[in-house]
Amino acid sequence: MIETIQKYRQDFNSRVSSISAPEPLKQLRIDFLGKKGCVQALMKNLRQATSEEKQQQGKLINNFKQYVENQLKSKEEELGKSANRISQKTETFDTTLPGRGKTSGTLHPITQVMEEIKAIFLGLGFQVEEGPEIETDYYNFEALNIPKDHPARDMQDTFYIEGGAVLRTHTSPVQIHVMENSQPPLRIIAPGKVYRCDSDVSHTPMFHQIEGLMVERNVSFSHLKGIMNIFLQEVFGKDTQVRFRPSFFPFTCPSAEVDIQCVICSGKGCRVCSQTGWVEILGAGMVDPAVFKSVGYDPEKWAGFAFGLGIERISMLKYGINDIRLFFENDLRFLKQF
Ligand SMILES: [Zn+2]
Repeated sequence: MIETIQKYRQDFNSRVSSISAPEPLKQLRIDFLGKKGCVQALMKNLRQATSEEKQQQGKLINNFKQYVENQLKSKEEELGKSANRISQKTETFDTTLPGRGKTSGTLHPITQVMEEIKAIFLGLGFQVEEGPEIETDYYNFEALNIPKDHPARDMQDTFYIEGGAVLRTHTSPVQIHVMENSQPPLRIIAPGKVYRCDSDVSHTPMFHQIEGLMVERNVSFSHLKGIMNIFLQEVFGKDTQVRFRPSFFPFTCPSAEVDIQCVICSGKGCRVCSQTGWVEILGAGMVDPAVFKSVGYDPEKWAGFAFGLGIERISMLKYGINDIRLFFENDLRFLKQF
């Protein structure tokens, strides 16, 4: 028995040392530890032995079995490690290369300025309202005190649609929709797209406006001035100078154009402000009684002011952009700067 085990051990040692792949190692395990393997054969022989021999020889067999198991296990680990080394060499994976980062998108500058303006007016108690971009002649013109023969219609290069509808030329029609459907007091802003048949460095056929309307019992022009001052200083900085110039709009009376001190030259005079030191930023005024009448409000009871501003205009001055068309060319080199 002792001789047999010795022979098996030699046999096992020579085979295990020559193995360099997983498959022959599996076969070796079967040959020695399998049901018909060497260890089982030794156990069978033990049946004929006396109980004293059984004790002695059983110990030897168990020792041999343990030895085989340990050797197989360490050989398996050795093969696993070298397999990793080989794959590292052949796959040429350079772990020192930097990762490929994911670039995240940003909000369009127009959207950013729009959100900023909305937040300022929400803080002053205004609500956001929306209206249709395709309007009837009535909502875009008539109800805003611009009758068919009014010269103000020539000021706005309107896109007409078959059947008499128009692409809205301003966000002011939203005022009419809101006043028709609700009773004062009101504080609303209406942001959105508007359309005019015009295209050059400072005009695009589609651009964005925000309309504002406040209707209460004792609203005066000084409230309008106060709100416009707060708003423009929030957007352009606390030291921004604001001035009001008399102007004309059919739907407000009195009307004003509002300028801020040129943000490019700080009032010294430059090309952007035509050397005047001031740039026009928005139009505003007290709601014309004729507009109140068209929505059924009593002009004796209610007063209000309205204002309208172009988002592109404000964005251009805020960021020093000299061509409005840059906003709509979708050039990532431009858009990534915001
Ligand atoms: Zn200037």
